[in-house]
Amino acid sequence: MIELKTPAEIQRMHVAGRFVAEVLSEVGRLADVGVNLLDLEHHVRGMIERRGAESCYWDYSPSFGRGPFRNVICLSVNDAVLHGLPHDYTLRDGDVLSADLAVGIDGWVADSARTVIVGTAAEEDLRIIRATEEALEAAIETARPGNRVGDISAAIGAVAHAYGYPVNTEFGGHGIGRTMHEGPHVSNQGRAGRGLTLRPGLTLAIEPWFARTTDRIVYDPDGWTIRSADGSRTAHSEHTVAVTEDAPLVLTRRDQEGAAPA
Ligand code: MG
Ligand code: MG
Repeated sequence: MIELKTPAEIQRMHVAGRFVAEVLSEVGRLADVGVNLLDLEHHVRGMIERRGAESCYWDYSPSFGRGPFRNVICLSVNDAVLHGLPHDYTLRDGDVLSADLAVGIDGWVADSARTVIVGTAAEEDLRIIRATEEALEAAIETARPGNRVGDISAAIGAVAHAYGYPVNTEFGGHGIGRTMHEGPHVSNQGRAGRGLTLRPGLTLAIEPWFARTTDRIVYDPDGWTIRSADGSRTAHSEHTVAVTEDAPLVLTRRDQEGAAPA
């Protein structure tokens, strides 16, 4: 289902988006050598409870996971890239951590993800994070009335290609609003000029993710975590974006976004 939102409804999604941004900023600050993923999960759980927000992940039982999910954030480390199940793992120097969060506030949802490096950064890890961030910004730029969903996909694919990263098309972006996953699907690779025409009120979660040397994925035995098939490292960047009459409105923008990872 594709539902165009009114400006007032987009403002309500923005409330959820600001909170998601705040939580992901906090996760970035907390992610450090010696911190356990379960500590991060519990911290985020507390923030969600205090805010009176609703986790979109808790009890989530999609066809691709071993549901129900009993956590509020996805934490994916190194070769893990999507749907990382928080577990008893203590972060090590040089780990690459992707955090993905979707919550609803008063019935409206926002979804965002970021990737940070824990401790000492390897240049090739910084590079793939930068690629997903650049792909995301290029994609957001195309989220304007009259463009097509294929223009968003093509913008992501072009950045991946420029960096030399292959693109998986099984998991990508999506419409979002009253629920976490709505139509349309937004592939991370595609042909410009194809697909749904973008109109004001369309709200999308755009989420480029790449693995360094493969476009294939494997499922972890935990039933949720998705890893690069060859074990290469990964990154994931996501924002919830509203198409408006004017410039694209990023509903999950963090303060000081783009600043060097702590
Ligand atoms: Mg997400
Ligand atoms: Mg998403």
